Amino acid sequence: MIKNVSVIGAGTMGNGIAHVFAQSGYKVVLIDIAAEPLNKALQTIEKNLDRQLAKGIITALQKQETLQQITLETDLQKGVAEAHLVVEAATENEAIKLELFKKIDAAAPQGCILATNTSSISVTKIASVTNRPAQVIGLHFMNPVPVMKLVEVINGYATSAEVTALIVALSKELGKVPALANDYPGFIANRILMPMINEAVYSLYEGVAGVEAIDTIMKLGMAHPMGPLQLADFIGLDVCLSILNVLYKGFGNPKYAPCPLLVNMVTSGRLGVKTGEGFYTYSAGSKELVVSEKFR
Ligand code: NAD
Repeated sequence: MIKNVSVIGAGTMGNGIAHVFAQSGYKVVLIDIAAEPLNKALQTIEKNLDRQLAKGIITALQKQETLQQITLETDLQKGVAEAHLVVEAATENEAIKLELFKKIDAAAPQGCILATNTSSISVTKIASVTNRPAQVIGLHFMNPVPVMKLVEVINGYATSAEVTALIVALSKELGKVPALANDYPGFIANRILMPMINEAVYSLYEGVAGVEAIDTIMKLGMAHPMGPLQLADFIGLDVCLSILNVLYKGFGNPKYAPCPLLVNMVTSGRLGVKTGEGFYTYSAGSKELVVSEKFR
């Protein structure tokens, strides 16, 4: 029976994951390497709970109860000592994750399931550094976690059917809709999304259309809520590039080769929303979409 959940990494995804587990009544230990990201995460959770409160999704009491379920921890060993489930949402870097999973495996109780929220790193590889590969699984939440319904559940090559069934049931309990995928590069979400984004960047690079036309065609023509270039800015162009490289390397197929324009934008530090400029420019407090000067 899963009651205690330890979430590792208190960034964009970690705070949202802690939020949804706590809201569903799980005891959550949120772990990061320093107090600063933890305090920031708690503030974000409180802000997002306030938003839910304002919309009438939760009551003031539920907000308080949710916050009470969460404790903050900088000591990994202590943080996972009583966990029934660990959800790792640390930085998307293979070396960091492999090192982390060795440590989590050594410190977490025997029956504890270890899940990773990775967007693209092999679940099978992560599982292989632990002594419990059958209990390691991918649990890929979407951003923003409290809002997005989907959770992609990824079976590693060694993941047991019991663990998959348990995680599928738990995802439903969180109010999410689980969709199953096997562990091959990009799983499903990014295997389909990233080539679409890459093709949009290629269309711009080859001068087939401008930024606004590309996004408008996909928004109005395909009923996508956001055009692919705007979405790429939102995800982070560095993240898109790194996932495309995982697909390119993993399949050895040139159809996944990242567009040289995307590579140049990342190299020059234009990473999208987080740096204020990508295909569009972003300024604090403004919701207006302005195409970046480079593409006007
Ligand atoms: P982020 O950079 O916002 O946060 C990562 C956090 O991990 C940071 O607070 C960092 O201090 C912490 N961290 C790094 N090393 C650690 C360690 N050894 N122990 C504990 N904490 C550590 O990253 P994010 O965007 O939240 O992504 C986290 C994971 O979720 C990644 O695997 C990413 O691929 C995946 N993901 C991200 C998105 C997204 O839209 N951002 C969507 C789906 C999945």
